[in-house]
Amino acid sequence: MPTFGYVNPYRNKGVECENLALVCMDFRFRKKINELLSQAGYRDFDILAVPGASKAIIDDSHRQIVLNALKIAVSLHGIRRLIMVDHIDCGTYGGSSRFPGQVEEMAFHTERLHEAYQIIKSQYPMLEIVLMYIDWDKLQEIAAF
Ligand SMILES: [Zn+2]
Repeated sequence: MPTFGYVNPYRNKGVECENLALVCMDFRFRKKINELLSQAGYRDFDILAVPGASKAIIDDSHRQIVLNALKIAVSLHGIRRLIMVDHIDCGTYGGSSRFPGQVEEMAFHTERLHEAYQIIKSQYPMLEIVLMYIDWDKLQEIAAF
């Protein structure tokens, strides 16, 4: 098996991390989200990739997975901010084809993100929460609480 060497800048440093990014597992957006969040000033963030991002919080069947990971991120890394990123053409929400256009699709995700926000806020009132949406050519902040 080949070995791949690298230098980890976090070696022998603390494990504090300010942010947790909740993103969809979709490979088409993940790398770009990582890059753009760093550009947006969120230099370090834990990442939790689950199908649908906001949908994983809204759906009873997946909510506990997110809450368990969030609990660990808060207690182990001391995160103070949750960044939730929904994306265009998300298969778990039925994809872009179920919407008349991109405006309607983004409006739908804006509502879902707010719904997810309410659920998290009720359990973690001290957590700062940022709602974001990424389409084919930009990542934008929808709201920050
Ligand atoms: Zn998705």
